[in-house]
Amino acid sequence: MIKLTKIVATISDRKCDEDFIQTLFEEGMDVVRINTAHQQPEQTLDIVKNVRKVSKRIPIMVDTKGPEIRTNPSEEDLLVETGQMIHVSGHSTRASGKQCIYVNFPDFVHRMKPGKQIMIDDGDIALTVIEKSNDRLLCRVENGGVIKGRKSVNLPGTLIDLPSLNDKDLEYIDFSIRHKLDFIAHSFVRNKEDVLAIQKILDRHESPIKIIAKIENQQGVDHIDEILDHVYGIMIARGDLAIEVPAERIPGIQANLIKECMRRKKAVIVATQMLHSMIENPRPTRAEVSDIATAVFSGTDAVMLSGETAFGKYPLEALRIMTRTLKEAESSITFSIDSEVMPHDNEISIFLSKTAVRSTQQINTKAIITDTDTGKTARYLSAYRGRVPIYAQCYSDKVMRELAINYGIRADYMKLELSKKEFSQATLMHLIEKGEIGSEDLIAVLAGNFGKKAGPSFVEVSTAGNMLSDQKPY
Ligand code: PGA
Ligand code: MN
Repeated sequence: MIKLTKIVATISDRKCDEDFIQTLFEEGMDVVRINTAHQQPEQTLDIVKNVRKVSKRIPIMVDTKGPEIRTNPSEEDLLVETGQMIHVSGHSTRASGKQCIYVNFPDFVHRMKPGKQIMIDDGDIALTVIEKSNDRLLCRVENGGVIKGRKSVNLPGTLIDLPSLNDKDLEYIDFSIRHKLDFIAHSFVRNKEDVLAIQKILDRHESPIKIIAKIENQQGVDHIDEILDHVYGIMIARGDLAIEVPAERIPGIQANLIKECMRRKKAVIVATQMLHSMIENPRPTRAEVSDIATAVFSGTDAVMLSGETAFGKYPLEALRIMTRTLKEAESSITFSIDSEVMPHDNEISIFLSKTAVRSTQQINTKAIITDTDTGKTARYLSAYRGRVPIYAQCYSDKVMRELAINYGIRADYMKLELSKKEFSQATLMHLIEKGEIGSEDLIAVLAGNFGKKAGPSFVEVSTAGNMLSDQKPY
């Protein structure tokens, strides 16, 4: 059984040796994500080098910090108790202390109002603003805990116009361009301007890097339409999203965002806490396993591991559980090609893709084979969420890596000189040798006879044996 839903695994410099990455890759990891919030470029480069040594098939996604606010570093951890009053203020460098907690946004006090909430460290500590003076806020601690340096600060319902990109983001965008990485996942995308700020830099360097918008606040959800116009895909970043909007709204937002991405043929990743308990424990909770399956049932392209693989005690176990859960979920329901999910555009590739995927449901076609120049044809096939693999022959290893994030696609790279017939036969022989299909299995080939620009022009369905018969009898 081949896994169709993709896995993005976060790798940190704490554990990034080749053997570890190789094993994760063999066990179902499709994309490596590097979270730059806690790293410097030299450390990131170590991870990049090791991933490259393992395989040129693994795309690398750099995750920027984006417009975020954090607590400033402090000499000591500060314990605050529920009901206590504390001062909070903004300064670019000043260290937090018992007198006052500082966050790294100088204009912080002026942007806040009495009654608003301040959530620190993924919402573990909650404050309410009671009074505002010229240079500080007086806040009541609603949920006590230990406030450490460099922890996340979320402000539900307060809009702060931080610039789209900070200095560290710019440094990492440049790093990604220089090292020819595949994806930039940009944090806290609020609207299309946040995305276009990166695209402008990429264009200036003629970089083909694709952007993934992390949707992690209400503004991102509200502007999803215009954001999707300018990105390869999105990440439903539930870690921050569940603090910025009431947590009970997350499941509905998740289902709707996935549906919209399928309709718009954009990649979608469901992220954060999917197997959170496995950071400490060798076995997942029932709810975590269900969460992964729910993402599959809604039609996600990919699911993500964060701390589980970045610093958890059981990274391999987490990946294995995720792979097994995905396969099981995929085989337990079939997707119907719902015209509401995918509007019937007047486009040849959409018509043919739909026909090819429909053949997998109606006459039990076992695999779809296609070749793709920009990846578009393969993504169209993927968007119908059939239950068989789409073998996509690409003409650049860059496109091959990009498609690693899209549901159901098994991309490979080949030189351009093969003809249409030869490409599908070469693929078929390879699949038969690997035992992934048999010569009696029905196969659908989606290809074109009129050159690259014209795109696909036909779907052919027959047994693998028939398709190979004029070249090599099976
Ligand atoms: P992060 O993003 O891990 O970079 O915060 C993911 C999330 O917020 O869910
Ligand atoms: Mn986040």
